[in-house]
Amino acid sequence: MDDLTWTDTQARRLKELGMDPENTVFSTPEERNKIFQQIEKKQVQSERIRLTKFLTAKKKTHLAQLTENLTAMLNLQGFARVNTPLIISKSSLSKMTIDENHPLFHQVYWINEKQCLRPMLAPNLYSLMVDFSRLNHRPISFFEIGSCFRKESDGAKHSSEFTMLNLVEMGLPKENRQHRLEELASLVAQTAGLNNFKFEIEDSKVYGTTLDVVAGPDEIEVASGAMGPHPLDEPWGLTDTWVGMGFGLERLLMISQGNTSIGRWGKSLAYVDGIRLRI
Ligand code: ATP
Ligand code: MG
Repeated sequence: MDDLTWTDTQARRLKELGMDPENTVFSTPEERNKIFQQIEKKQVQSERIRLTKFLTAKKKTHLAQLTENLTAMLNLQGFARVNTPLIISKSSLSKMTIDENHPLFHQVYWINEKQCLRPMLAPNLYSLMVDFSRLNHRPISFFEIGSCFRKESDGAKHSSEFTMLNLVEMGLPKENRQHRLEELASLVAQTAGLNNFKFEIEDSKVYGTTLDVVAGPDEIEVASGAMGPHPLDEPWGLTDTWVGMGFGLERLLMISQGNTSIGRWGKSLAYVDGIRLRI
């Protein structure tokens, strides 16, 4: 006969409450159910305390705090924060060469034939780069922090709505670009409390040099960077040198908080600040 362990429902509930349901063995279902009730009650109490502390003392989610910390750090580094529309046009997506043949195209939420929810910040930031490039000072440094939307199938590392930080610096000497990207990526990682991360540099014929940041025990991608002049600059009419990098804030949080699942940290009605609400 199999050992008597938690029922699936019990194991799921313990996980929801932030516990690791160990493979405890019980002698009777009555004993198991009694122990389950005791543990659940204790855990619900401690989650209620956390939630009360959040509402009355902490008053800010990790996501909000990280957004503030990153804004302050980047402001100090000379970057200005901008806010651009969540709804973008099909033509700005196609300027990014995201058409029917691009994998991202099928992840886009269309709201009508010509408009969609932005899957990335890059199209809007490209548009701003063009307008900012008419100014005389260099470097020109700015960033946006905001929601992006993608249809995803893998849930542990992906949300359909997530928060991207995308920073851009224009007009820096060509030979400094990679070094500057690494420097900026390290500053963001440090601000997010990431101690262990590494760069993955790739040279692609189409996109030039790209620089990704991977972190955590599973080495997941937390950011992806690129530099210009870049083949995509031409449709926008951009001639400056630039570096740019996009970070997923929920991924930064999930790793700095030692979790393996992203769902707790994003926008949610099931969790607030990583605390399960069905308590
Ligand atoms: P992945 O291969 O993991 O899906 P990606 O290559 O699609 O990532 P990019 O398009 O380079 O990701 O986006 C930049 C960053 O945005 C990623 O490094 C990641 O941190 C974050 N990101 C992308 N998609 C999601 C998502 N669905 N949920 C949460 N974060 C995401
Ligand atoms: Mg993806």
